[in-house]
Amino acid sequence: MNLILMGLPGAGKGTQAEQISETYGIPHISTGDMFRLAIKEGTELGKKAKSFMDQGALVPDEVTIGIVKDRLKKDDCQNGFLLDGFPRTIAQAEALNVLLDEMDNQIDHVIHISVPEEKLVERLSGRRVCPTCGRAYHVLYNPPVKEGICDSDGTELVQRDDDKPETVANRLSVNVEQTQPLLDFYKAKGDLVTINGDRAIDQVFSDIKKHL
Ligand SMILES: [Zn+2]
Repeated sequence: MNLILMGLPGAGKGTQAEQISETYGIPHISTGDMFRLAIKEGTELGKKAKSFMDQGALVPDEVTIGIVKDRLKKDDCQNGFLLDGFPRTIAQAEALNVLLDEMDNQIDHVIHISVPEEKLVERLSGRRVCPTCGRAYHVLYNPPVKEGICDSDGTELVQRDDDKPETVANRLSVNVEQTQPLLDFYKAKGDLVTINGDRAIDQVFSDIKKHL
C-alpha cells in the first residue's frame, strides 16, 4: 500500500503517520529523514543535496526525486510506503507519478488530515515556555499546575513571538496556499481521502483505517 500523508502543521500528521506505519508495516518516509539518510550514506545525490543545503539553497527537484527513487527501491518499501512532506509541488507530484510508473507501481491513497485553521491556531499558539529553565508547556495539552507559572522554578511563563496567534495564522495561510494545488491535483485523480482531524487521535486513526 503506497500512501501520501498531507496536512497542515498541528493537524497531527506525525502521530497518525506512526500509527499507520506500525499497523500496516510500511515505512514512514519523511523528507527530512530521507535527505539525512542519503547524506549519511554518502550517495552522489546525497552529496549534491548537501551542497545545496550547506549554501542554504533549495534542493532542486531532480536531486530530490532521485533521492526519493533510491529510498523507494529499498527493501523495506516492498509492501508499500508512507510519504510525508513529499511531494510539495505539482512538478514533484508529476515526477513521482513518472517514477512510480517506471517501477510499475502507483499511489493508492492520498490521506489529507483536515483541521479548520482557527483550531490549528488554537493548538499551535498554546505553547508557553519558562524563560528561566526553558521548560515548555501547552495551555490545553500540558498545562502547568498553576496557570502561567513554571512548575520547576515558579517563573512566569512567556509566549514566544513565533507562537503568537497572528504569526501562527500567517504561517498557516502560506502553507495552505502551497498545499491547495496539490490537494486539487490528487482530488482530480480520484486519490484524495479527506479525514476530519478535529477529533481525538484514536477516532482520526479509525477513520483512516476505514479508508485503507
Ligand atoms: Zn522554569
